[in-house]
Amino acid sequence: MPGGVNSPVRAFRSVGRTPFFVEKAKGAYLYDADGNRYLDYVCSWGPGILGHAVPSVVEAVQKACENGLTFGAPTEKEVELAQLIQSCVPSMEMMRLVNSGTEAVMSAVRAARGFTGREKIIKFTGCYHGHSDGLLVKAGSGLLTGSVPDSAGVPAGYAAATLLAEYNDIESVRRLLEENEGQVACIVVEPVAANMGVVPPEEGFLAVLREAADASGALLIFDEVITGFRLGLGGAQGYYGVTPDLSTFGKIVGGGMPLAAYGGRRDVMSCVAPCGAVYQAGTLSGNPIAVTAGTEMLKLLIAHPEIYAQIDQSAARLEEAYRETGLTVNRVGSLLSPFFTREKVRDYQSVMTSDTAAFARYFGWMLEKGIYVAPSQFEAMFVSAAHSAEMIDMTCDMVKEYGKSGMI
Ligand code: PLP
Repeated sequence: MPGGVNSPVRAFRSVGRTPFFVEKAKGAYLYDADGNRYLDYVCSWGPGILGHAVPSVVEAVQKACENGLTFGAPTEKEVELAQLIQSCVPSMEMMRLVNSGTEAVMSAVRAARGFTGREKIIKFTGCYHGHSDGLLVKAGSGLLTGSVPDSAGVPAGYAAATLLAEYNDIESVRRLLEENEGQVACIVVEPVAANMGVVPPEEGFLAVLREAADASGALLIFDEVITGFRLGLGGAQGYYGVTPDLSTFGKIVGGGMPLAAYGGRRDVMSCVAPCGAVYQAGTLSGNPIAVTAGTEMLKLLIAHPEIYAQIDQSAARLEEAYRETGLTVNRVGSLLSPFFTREKVRDYQSVMTSDTAAFARYFGWMLEKGIYVAPSQFEAMFVSAAHSAEMIDMTCDMVKEYGKSGMI
């Protein structure tokens, strides 16, 4: 395996370490093969909003396995999950279930192109939307961690159809729409940027994007792979009150299994095969085990909406602890990032003022104290409902101790 891993950031290269290998996980803890226990603020990069190995999700999956692992034919369970998603996110008038966030965004962009008959797309520097060719241009997440925001192997033609705007800079969007009038199929955005560290949308940014998209005939796509069911049952669109044409969901929606969804306006989604001419398919799409895990997860969240206040509060306490150390901290709900800079962080440029060597020292120090944060400055910290008040207290104490260690 390249780097010994199946997804690059897992290799711990940017923090100069060798990754631990996980043996099992339960609640807020990960246990490695060397017998160490870590309080986990990565939560599998987002899905673990209720912690690891949630008993009713595990039980539902075990039961579902007895009836077969995959059928390649429709099931009632897929309809049930789609209805649950729709009940929380009304803009999902019609949707498709797929296997990963990458597939969801790739497919949503294709649907937008098919619907509008336009080829170009606008994305934002530092936003990550999975690893499909056209979206690997100035992307965040592992690409930033590896200091290569553009991937090799992407044909120039694909990259040329991706226009780059700056996050929180509506003028950069307007300029691109003007210069490419009638050619832009969609604006795709993380409504809360969380793949260059957490960068919240400034007041009105999303609403103005909505207006700019409408005025130009482009569709607005919210990539809610991270924000969906994390900022609340209604995702970022519910949180900020701005409705996109299409949305993508992943991570939480699969309850820890490989499942994602894309969807939105009925007229747009009606372009997808077999209803329309935009092709998209998948042998394992709507897999019964993944659908079962996702359904059980959403049922739990719908039955316990109070967990959102709990995880927000936990994250707010962590935010305060980091702030006391003098670091810049961004937080939206249960997503947060301490940045190793004194500057306000509001876009890619300000993110890049962070001292990644200082981050690496902090990462190692925390890990040695038994706290696992993402091994990169450019990823979010995920708080789960399994993080008890005591665990948050302990983490805050460690953060403050680190702050006083003189290592920042
Ligand atoms: N979109 C966003 C906002 C993401 O954060 C990610 C992954 O982290 C993706 C898309 C890609 O999802 P996946 O890794 O499931 O392909």
